[in-house]
Amino acid sequence: MNQADRENQQLVLALSKGRIFEDTLPLLKAAGIEMVDNPESSRKLILETSDPLLRVVIVRATDVPTYVQYGAADFGVAGKDVLLEHGGEGLYQPIDLNIAQCRMSVAVQKGFDYQNAVRQGARLRVATKFVQTAREHFARKGVHVDLIKLYGSMELAPLVGLSDAIVDLVSTGGTLRANNLEEVEHIMDVSSRLIVNQAALKMKRERLAPILAAFESAAVKG
Ligand code: ADP
Ligand code: MG
Repeated sequence: MNQADRENQQLVLALSKGRIFEDTLPLLKAAGIEMVDNPESSRKLILETSDPLLRVVIVRATDVPTYVQYGAADFGVAGKDVLLEHGGEGLYQPIDLNIAQCRMSVAVQKGFDYQNAVRQGARLRVATKFVQTAREHFARKGVHVDLIKLYGSMELAPLVGLSDAIVDLVSTGGTLRANNLEEVEHIMDVSSRLIVNQAALKMKRERLAPILAAFESAAVKG
């Protein structure tokens, strides 16, 4: 294989650390691929795998769609939450992998009567990382909101009077409970999807197809 062919055959997979990385390992394994480096113990951002032609780049969860959109990564795994905020431009989304499952919810401090505030037509201050999704949710319900964009630790906002409510991801509810917050509205179920760069799908089809097929058959069933 000459240099140009080799470059053409190189694949880059974009993942984020934590749940998505952990839940993607069994899918890689199903495709016969093992990680050589572990992102939790290594500071490397480009990780080698047992397949010399597949590298994994570790990026922030919200940056995964951007790397794939611009073709810096050929494919990636991203949460529905992140994909809705990104918009999905330039991305092919073949399968829901049903990994990193959680839900997006509205939460308030215990004792705050959310339903009553909504009934009264009060204008609510809502802090969230997910402004697009939150805007659509409250618009659909006809609730007036002022959205405050945060980048993390949404749970703090109602406790210090920054907002009346938050829109955040919940799995066990442990973090909400630990901070005297309660879930008052379920917005949507969230899981992670496989995303593929549209040009890579055409140009690198032969290399990508078996990996995508293995992911699909190993994906957690609906
Ligand atoms: P960051 O800290 O960079 O914002 P997280 O590691 O918290 O990102 O989340 C990355 C992705 O994992 C989210 O986009 C979401 O799809 C998923 N996720 C977040 N929280 C949970 C959770 N509690 N349970 C399962 N999946 C989650
Ligand atoms: Mg987090």
